[in-house]
Amino acid sequence: MKKMKFPFSDAPNTACFTCCHVLDENKPILYVSHDEDGYWQFLCDGNHKEEDARVVSLASILSIDETMSDLSELDYGEYAEAESVTSDWIVRRMDK
Ligand SMILES: [Zn+2]
Repeated sequence: MKKMKFPFSDAPNTACFTCCHVLDENKPILYVSHDEDGYWQFLCDGNHKEEDARVVSLASILSIDETMSDLSELDYGEYAEAESVTSDWIVRRMDK
């Protein structure tokens, strides 16, 4: 059996944020950020209120969208956006 290496430097059970649209409505993840304080966020392209936030593990994000492993190198304070599931990710630094 091929041993899969977990792509993130954080543990698979690390808590991260996503939104109810991704979890409940199968919306694609089009915004990923890695905050200065280490928190990951995986959101759709909609508008988000506080009550839309959901806490899941990094492992469950990968099971929702395994291509998120492409963004595992995102540095602290960086975020990546894509226009659609088929477009390339554009990585930027967050404004302070
Ligand atoms: Zn959303």
